[in-house]
Amino acid sequence: MKRILITGAAGFLGSHLCDRFVSEEFTVIGMDNLITGNIKNIEHLFPLKNFEYYHHDVSKFVHVPGQLDYILHFASPASPIDYLKMPIQTLKVGSLGTHNLLGLAKSKNARILIASTSEVYGDPLVHPQREDYWGNVNPIGPRGVYDEAKRFQEAITMAYHTYHGLETRIIRIFNTYGPRMRVEDGRVLPAFFCQAIRGEGLTVFGEGNQTRSFCYVDDLVEGIYRLLFSNYHLPVNIGNPSEITILQFAKEIMALVQNPKAHIIYDPLPVDDPKQRQPDITLAKDILGWEPKVSREEGLIKTYKYFKDLLKGMD
Ligand code: UDP
Repeated sequence: MKRILITGAAGFLGSHLCDRFVSEEFTVIGMDNLITGNIKNIEHLFPLKNFEYYHHDVSKFVHVPGQLDYILHFASPASPIDYLKMPIQTLKVGSLGTHNLLGLAKSKNARILIASTSEVYGDPLVHPQREDYWGNVNPIGPRGVYDEAKRFQEAITMAYHTYHGLETRIIRIFNTYGPRMRVEDGRVLPAFFCQAIRGEGLTVFGEGNQTRSFCYVDDLVEGIYRLLFSNYHLPVNIGNPSEITILQFAKEIMALVQNPKAHIIYDPLPVDDPKQRQPDITLAKDILGWEPKVSREEGLIKTYKYFKDLLKGMD
């Protein structure tokens, strides 16, 4: 049996990855320090023989006994609200944490895939974003702690690839959504769903004409899986190119939830909020034969059910 280490295992993406690899008969070692992850996301895996959980902060030296074939590095605060609250941890997990995991991969002769982000493109001046665009990032702005950590992460990963010949993979993840996002996550989709279900104001930042492109989590997991087993070591965008303004997105969620008390309110636009974001996925199509299968309509219905049940349990 192949053994895979997944960092950020109790998080939104990490936990879905644990599910996928456990079901593919890998032995999965899930690691998390639970600063943003939730152990409930992986509790159902605890009885399985091919799942182990380590409570650990990967910014400190990482020790995993025995053979290791693959590493997926998904530990990091990932919502702007979280990385504003935890700027140092965000910088450390992207830099020191990545260094530790690259060292572990080298010592075990394992292949490592690191989770990078569309944030490496910053507030992009090229649209849609292709992998060869270098980005427009403010290093000292509030988002800099995440963006620069992820840029450093890509740089050190490439250095381990070229200098040590390590097998590395880099995925640039665009906005992703689905079950297991947290109510208090702060990102736009959980915020809008919870506000709509509770009959509150949906907090549109600015005038809501900034755009994002939302990918359903199952599509993302499939893209990660294919990239890990590909032989391509340069960064690959994975995301859904279907682009929408944030105001339109608020309206779609209100139309789905149908709570007559829900309404739109306008709050100030956060500093350095990217004005537009859409992945160019030509590369993923060419080298992975991957493209998203779940439409926003379908993905939002599944996610609505998740948030409705979650909030019912909390009230
Ligand atoms: N946003 C919003 N209301 C909210 C939360 C976010 O209008 O309650 C906007 C935010 O300003 C950004 C977009 O939605 O333009 C996506 O924000 P998110 O925090 O989900 O992630 P980002 O794509 O900015 O990393």
